Amino acid sequence: MRAVFLDRDGVINHNRPDHVKNWEEFQFLPGALTALRLLSQTGYRIFIITNQAAVGRGLISIATLEQIHARLRAIAAYHGAQIEDIRYCPHRPEEQCRCRKPQPGMLEDLAARYRIDCRQAYLVGDALSDIAAGKQMGCQTILVKSGRGTDELRKPELRRYQPDHIASDLLDAARWILVEETTRAPTVALPLAAGTLMAPQ
Ligand SMILES: [Mg+2]
Ligand SMILES: [Zn+2]
Repeated sequence: MRAVFLDRDGVINHNRPDHVKNWEEFQFLPGALTALRLLSQTGYRIFIITNQAAVGRGLISIATLEQIHARLRAIAAYHGAQIEDIRYCPHRPEEQCRCRKPQPGMLEDLAARYRIDCRQAYLVGDALSDIAAGKQMGCQTILVKSGRGTDELRKPELRRYQPDHIASDLLDAARWILVEETTRAPTVALPLAAGTLMAPQ
């Protein structure tokens, strides 16, 4: 099964310049839950990787962050989407850790734990730092224009961290992934197509 790595803020929920600090500030973006369901039900394993320097800055506790993630997973499940795992980097940029994107540490850890071939995986983010992390691991990368995406597209670094595709939002990205999959080398059948073939008449 192929994996999709998703950034959180600006991809799944509204980005806040002052950080999402509690559940009340966590607002799903339009179409995000539909996109999660679409990916999950066509057999993709969904992973979320998010920089949360707000933890290192003392703006939110680990307990509150994990509570937000538990609710996010529960609501996604209610909408028919399974989120396999959520990883966050709690460090401040000055700490120069190996997990804060653009570093690929969170992707490396997930790839090892879940035996993911990143060259067969997709990464969706609204920042060039997401794209940079994904490219280092060989993922197919998609920049969404939601969140910070539109501003990020104006940065000169775009030339260096050119995404494989630009989508308007997560739902648009999910649809692109599904179409992309049908045009890839036919190594595996699409889960949907296989299900259709096996469906009893
Ligand atoms: Mg983001
Ligand atoms: Zn970190």
